[in-house]
Amino acid sequence: MLPVLYIVVPCYNEEQVLPITSQLFLQKLRSLERAWKISPESRVLFVDDGSKDNTWQILCDLARQDRHFKGIRQSRNRGHQNAVLAGLMEAKESCDITISIDCDGQDDLDAMDAMVDAYLDGCEIVYGVRSKRDTDTFFKRFTAEGYYKFLRLMGVDAVYNHADYRLVSSRVLKEFANFKEVNLFLRGMFPLVGFKSTSVYYERRERMAGKSHYPLRKMLSLAFEGITSLSVKPLHIITGLGCIIAALSFIGVIWSVIVALTGNSVPGWASMTCIICLLGGVQLTCLGVLGEYIGKIYMEVKGRPRYIISQRTKEWEEI
Ligand code: UDP
Ligand code: MG
Repeated sequence: MLPVLYIVVPCYNEEQVLPITSQLFLQKLRSLERAWKISPESRVLFVDDGSKDNTWQILCDLARQDRHFKGIRQSRNRGHQNAVLAGLMEAKESCDITISIDCDGQDDLDAMDAMVDAYLDGCEIVYGVRSKRDTDTFFKRFTAEGYYKFLRLMGVDAVYNHADYRLVSSRVLKEFANFKEVNLFLRGMFPLVGFKSTSVYYERRERMAGKSHYPLRKMLSLAFEGITSLSVKPLHIITGLGCIIAALSFIGVIWSVIVALTGNSVPGWASMTCIICLLGGVQLTCLGVLGEYIGKIYMEVKGRPRYIISQRTKEWEEI
């Protein structure tokens, strides 16, 4: 049986670009249907993320025009990651595969063919990865690529240069639904689910119309979210630093005692130095230890699944 595909598209104040890109999504869906890769029950599912312009009216009109279009609307603006999650969770019961993609036409729709092929070959997650960043400014490119490297250093298993253009099977989504956390950084969370995955490379273009809703402020907050939601390594670093400083202050204490004993200091200097050195080291180590516990509590309250089973042996049958 052919898989049912849902293309999940978050939209926030996108009245300018939707009339253009909705037709491109439809064409892509039809061409995949004609190639007998997906079922005619496939849909484009738009998620209106609490838009203040005519986005919802446009989505309602689209749904009236063609049965391939569906729309859901969030009660208020919750941000891109939450909008994508809402769409994926809505889609997971009705489809076999989802592809999440922005609605501004920046991501190359033709990469979907390769994504569906990879799914038909047995992959459950297919990451869309930017092959180059020619269309970015030097600043964006430098900070984005540096960030992906930093994430890795912090122990976050995110795919390099992958944003949120991704194929995910409904099977993975059903497991993903058990990740109950509210601080979302989807691109770093899907690798946690496991299953067979691969990457498809594509070139990212300029926005077709309208303007970006990701100003530097939002980008920085997403970047911060990525580290703090997925890694407790910064807390380990504090513990490590505490131990190093404690060791250094121990040397400082010995040094100040020697200076005092050789008579090269004013009275009271050595005792003051000893106290400052020791307290600094002890305080930071204690903070680190507290941090370790907080890190553990943080991971516990996320309530992430402790195991996910991907396969079971079939019952033995006599041939
Ligand atoms: N978006 C959203 N909610 C928001 C901001 C953005 O659903 O609060 C959607 C937006 O409509 C688009 C996608 O997220 O489909 C990516 O946003 P945008 O193109 O503005 O970001 P950029 O590509 O400039 O990083
Ligand atoms: Mg964009």
